[in-house]
Amino acid sequence: QEQINQFRNKHRIHVYGTDVPDPLQTFDELYKLYNLNRLLSNNVNVLRFEMPTPIQMQAIPVMLHRREILACAPTGSGKTLAFILPILHHLQCPQNKGFRAVVLSPTRELAAQTHREFQRIAEGTGFRIHLMEKVNIINNKYGKKAGRKFDILVTTPKRLVYLLKQDPPQISLDSVEWLIVDESDKLFEDGKTGFRDQIAIIYQSCSGKNIRRALFSATFTYEVEEWCKLNLDNLIQVYVGAKNA
Ligand code: ADP
Ligand code: MG
Repeated sequence: QEQINQFRNKHRIHVYGTDVPDPLQTFDELYKLYNLNRLLSNNVNVLRFEMPTPIQMQAIPVMLHRREILACAPTGSGKTLAFILPILHHLQCPQNKGFRAVVLSPTRELAAQTHREFQRIAEGTGFRIHLMEKVNIINNKYGKKAGRKFDILVTTPKRLVYLLKQDPPQISLDSVEWLIVDESDKLFEDGKTGFRDQIAIIYQSCSGKNIRRALFSATFTYEVEEWCKLNLDNLIQVYVGAKNA
């Protein structure tokens, strides 16, 4: 345990919470300790990353243990891969159950970037990762049958809420197992209460049992921390760098 603490200190990883899983020291451990799908391991190897970044070291094992997390690390520190790998690992293979993971991004551009990275890591797995288009060209696309042929949804909260608010709702989130809020600091600052209402609507629509949530953020904000402490189950917080930097 002393060794683990030294490793975290060395990489400026700070953790808060109970029973925090040990950090990952190499990408190889994903395969050795967590039995990560070979295709996924290969797709990670293709990227030729030497080491996981600090946020990946700690956030990936936390999510692989299905724990709810607030993960905070600077822009450019590899947060996207930190949530993509655990999601793809948990979903295992494509199924016709509808969306099983939803990633919320603050802007259309960030959503498109995240979608591209998903495609890259999921290459060859057959997962169907969907980037939600402008709502005015969606009609009945995610209804009872049509929406079943997707596994993962990447969208802005606004577009998703628009579809959920239709009568009847134009999208089903019944099968969602993971709800990711990326750039949560941006989303929470946007219009003060707006995003809280949106996430409440989205979360209520995720009617499956045992849905897990993960928030990723580039900066520490009290708003996000307070929201997580209030709403998440047995929260683990991971900060890279100084907490108040
Ligand atoms: P963030 O979301 O934290 O701002 P990104 O996930 O967009 O950061 O990653 C920033 C860049 O770092 C991307 O180009 C990504 O491919 C690259 N990257 C991700 N993980 C690693 C790694 N382990 N080693 C080197 N580069 C990485
Ligand atoms: Mg990011």
